[in-house]
Amino acid sequence: MAQLAGLSDVHFKRAPDDSEGDAYSLAPNVIVLSPSAQKLPSCQLAFVIGHEIVHIAQRHFDEDAIALSVYSGKPPYWTHDGDDAMQLANGDFGLALKLSPLWKQQEREADWLGSLLAAQVCGCSLEKGALAYFHPGDGDGGGIAAAHPPDTERIRQLIPFTESARRLMAMVPH
Ligand SMILES: [Zn+2]
Repeated sequence: MAQLAGLSDVHFKRAPDDSEGDAYSLAPNVIVLSPSAQKLPSCQLAFVIGHEIVHIAQRHFDEDAIALSVYSGKPPYWTHDGDDAMQLANGDFGLALKLSPLWKQQEREADWLGSLLAAQVCGCSLEKGALAYFHPGDGDGGGIAAAHPPDTERIRQLIPFTESARRLMAMVPH
């Protein structure tokens, strides 16, 4: 999947527990998987990994760092460290509010393109991948700046790509 997304190198790490969620990525090219994520059925895991690969391939860390710098009045490129930039939004609701549309767009991109990567590389349908992974109702919500939209919204946004995923699955050699 990384290769298809144009990345030459992605490193995987195991999280010690599930406290940080199923998976997350670290700049520039690390994907961290929780113990529960590693036990997911293969197509759900393919979706989770596809989602994180998209964050890395689309350089969302850099996008965040630049947007945070601009919105908080810092000089351009005051830091190259996405974590430094993220610290600006910690406890600053106004800044998080400004970033919220960008974060939402990044998560939509990661869900949509991640599903299609899983379809094309692993032959996973949306039904077996993303749609099986989401659990509407439990743990939905979060604040205005929450990283992921509620599962019901993620499902609604993905449904239109069901057919594209099916076409890409047909390209996987059997
Ligand atoms: Zn994400």
